[in-house]
Amino acid sequence: MVRPDFVISSRGADRRSNIVNHDPNCIFCKIVAGQIPSKKVYEDDDFLAFHDINPWAPVHILIVPKRHITSMVDVTMDDQALMGRMLATSPRLMRELGVGDGYRHVINTGADGGQEVMHLHLHVFGGPRPWKKG
Ligand code: AMP
Ligand code: ZN
Repeated sequence: MVRPDFVISSRGADRRSNIVNHDPNCIFCKIVAGQIPSKKVYEDDDFLAFHDINPWAPVHILIVPKRHITSMVDVTMDDQALMGRMLATSPRLMRELGVGDGYRHVINTGADGGQEVMHLHLHVFGGPRPWKKG
């Protein structure tokens, strides 16, 4: 169900009529909107990458769609291009951040999957191990 305080629009890559683009109570939507600061790594019309505030690895970035997608549970085949571009952009970002010897991608889904922020995000961890968590 779409909550009445959600803003619905058709900007960006999403032209579906019933899509929630912004949840005013969501911390990552606030980062996307520039309402709270982030250490930005990359931005385009559809997604944003920034450094995790509590890194688990020497380089730990989050790649988030600008549209409010709660989790992988809400991803559909219409999101193929978005998901593909988020993944395919990450090697370039890690290269630019000086990660030269491999990295790891993680998407946590739901409470049992360890998801704490309910706005879909792709973690990318790089740099020498050991890492605290993942
Ligand atoms: P997850 O457990 O997969 O939901 O991960 C959420 C991640 O968001 C954690 O690694 C947090 O450190 C990170 N995080 C939470 N708030 C912020 C913020 N304001 N800026 C950057 N990263 C954040
Ligand atoms: Zn959000």
